[in-house]
Amino acid sequence: MTHHYWGDQGANHRPDPEWELDPQTLSVRGGLTRTGFGETSEALFLNSGFTYATAEQAESSFAEEIDHFLYSRFHNPTVSMFENRLATLEGAQRCLGTSSGMSAMFMSIACLVSAGDRVVASAAMFSSCHVVLTEILPKWGVIVELVKSDDLEGWKKALSQPTKAVFIETPSNPMLEITDIKFVSDLAHKVGATVVVDNVMASVVLQKPLELGADVVMYSTTKHIDGQGRVLGGAILGSDDYFNNHLLPFNRHTGPTMSAFNAWVLVKSLETIQMRVHAMADGAQAVAEFLEAHSKIDVVRHPGLKSHPHHALAMSQMSGKGGSMIGFEVKGGKEAAFAIMNKLRVIDISNNLGDSKSLITHPASSTHRRLSPEVQAEMGIHAGTLRLSVGLEAASDLIKDLQQALA
Ligand SMILES: *Cc1c(COP(=O)(O)O)cnc(C)c1O
Repeated sequence: MTHHYWGDQGANHRPDPEWELDPQTLSVRGGLTRTGFGETSEALFLNSGFTYATAEQAESSFAEEIDHFLYSRFHNPTVSMFENRLATLEGAQRCLGTSSGMSAMFMSIACLVSAGDRVVASAAMFSSCHVVLTEILPKWGVIVELVKSDDLEGWKKALSQPTKAVFIETPSNPMLEITDIKFVSDLAHKVGATVVVDNVMASVVLQKPLELGADVVMYSTTKHIDGQGRVLGGAILGSDDYFNNHLLPFNRHTGPTMSAFNAWVLVKSLETIQMRVHAMADGAQAVAEFLEAHSKIDVVRHPGLKSHPHHALAMSQMSGKGGSMIGFEVKGGKEAAFAIMNKLRVIDISNNLGDSKSLITHPASSTHRRLSPEVQAEMGIHAGTLRLSVGLEAASDLIKDLQQALA
């Protein structure tokens, strides 16, 4: 299917290809394809199949000689609008919408590897990604090695032998460790590896892994892209070569497809993502500075804080803002952490993130409980660790809420 990065709005209604459009304009206009009705907003195509005028048209559609939608497991006009809009924002040749962030993560690596291949990944990550890499893929004979985000010698050693894929989550969930995307990509390419970045925490607004040398970017669109707690989804972005030779042959026949309804919600969400992510990052910076100054808190991790061990790298990789997430450790372990959570009146207890509502979770007993205490400790997760996803409320009210809960 041809990718209409601006869409079919008629030749008079399309900016010159040379125009360098601002990401905010692309967020609203990229990928828009209108039907003959001329609807203003993106249409929802809630259909599984497509018809052909003649048997000959069906034949040439299947032979990919003409552009014609075939079946919504492969592609759908609403899903394509979402994919093309996100691709223009990311600066990627191609985008594929998927049913969830985990199906995106799983497919992005699984489509590359066979039994006996090596995969190298950053050690601190979302726990389901950890399960895919350390339990599911090894069951099929894939060899997986984990490296601590900032262990430069470890990356050099791990990437000194032939490797099929590298998987990086930066900043990491929940303690915001930073991996140097350019450094790792350069090493990976020398040994033939495809570099996949889980860009969920920074989002397309604050970090462009492809510009830093990565080959593939994946998202849970459930997080900042929806950003309003409504629908699950995922996305994979990369080159024509990756799509044609690896991803599409895998995806088409295994079927982790994004639903058209979810794509319709998400394509509208992209219209406001720039404003939302900047506002959330500004709020998170203010809340992180408040927490850092509080006597009942031991450690505060936020890439925007000067105390973050990789603050300078984070600022250069992430457009000068630290994102919407804060990891912090309260004095007094699990009991103190639970007491604070239970006293909050504005911030909700929830394991989701990137939402307009501020959400707090205790990773050791929720999102990361499946991992052993040793693996948790390697990721910086202890009994008193809390993860706060800062939403769109006024930062002053979030600080007031935390202040009374900590009192
Ligand atoms: C949430 C998340 C995922 C998984 O996404 P789902 O949409 O929940 O399947 C993967 N990576 C990171 C960093 C996440 O935060």
